[in-house]
Amino acid sequence: MSNLTGKTALVTGASRGIGRAAALALAKAGAQVLVHYGSAQSEADAVVDEIRKAGGRAEKVGADLSAPNGPHELAKHVRSIVGDRLDILVANAGVSKAAQIEETTVEDFDRLFAVNVRAPYFLVQQLMPTLSTGSSVIFTSSLAARAAVGNLSAYAATKGAVDTMVKHFASALGSRGIRVNAVAPGVVETDMSNFTKTEEGRNVTLGMQALKRVAQPDDIAGAVAFLASDDARWITGDTLQVDGGSKL
Ligand code: NAD
Repeated sequence: MSNLTGKTALVTGASRGIGRAAALALAKAGAQVLVHYGSAQSEADAVVDEIRKAGGRAEKVGADLSAPNGPHELAKHVRSIVGDRLDILVANAGVSKAAQIEETTVEDFDRLFAVNVRAPYFLVQQLMPTLSTGSSVIFTSSLAARAAVGNLSAYAATKGAVDTMVKHFASALGSRGIRVNAVAPGVVETDMSNFTKTEEGRNVTLGMQALKRVAQPDDIAGAVAFLASDDARWITGDTLQVDGGSKL
């Protein structure tokens, strides 16, 4: 496991799923982790407790990232804890909604873009002065950004926007030694992809993957910890497919 001792990290949407696994992985590698949650305060407390019990350092930070000022409030809260030095930002919080194109509503579309695109954009903007030289920003993209899977056109469009942000932010922040990348998971067994719990969902998932098992949040967290580490020091502006060889 990479060494992140002395580093500070913020993981959004860390109360469960991939964010939780990423927070635990970064803490295990030695980082102090700010465990962000939207409304699930007790779940965030449990993640903080788990990190502390293992000898790590963690604090919880709450903010609704669907609100226009959510990222600004979160950045303020983060600065009140870490001061002027954040080394790792994992923008993981996200929402998904499966719907046919004809059934997608303006409200659903706006909510998807608010949480999945607007929030990470303004979170990076607000934390830019706080990101240290050598820091690593990791967005969460999706297999859906590069392949037509499920009825996910609006969600997929948000992840396409994430991949575009990666390139523009990496280009803008490179001169400060800040790297910006994304992980693009395929199907991962979380609350978001609970169809993996049915026989049919499992078969569809395995049918599109080279590796024949359903991914768990830990499978993504390892890649996040790698991108956060000095081992990934020459990687920026990239979206790393972490999908067991999906839709090859
Ligand atoms: P999840 O539903 O378990 O977790 C989503 C997290 O985002 C939760 O912690 C939730 O509280 C947080 N969140 C959602 N809306 C929020 C809001 N308004 N304010 C603050 N926090 C909010 O899902 P997950 O699978 O762990 O998803 C994590 C990321 O991975 C998302 O960006 C998702 O799009 C992406 N992803 C997931 C899969 C998958 O199959 N599970 C595949 C590809 C990409």
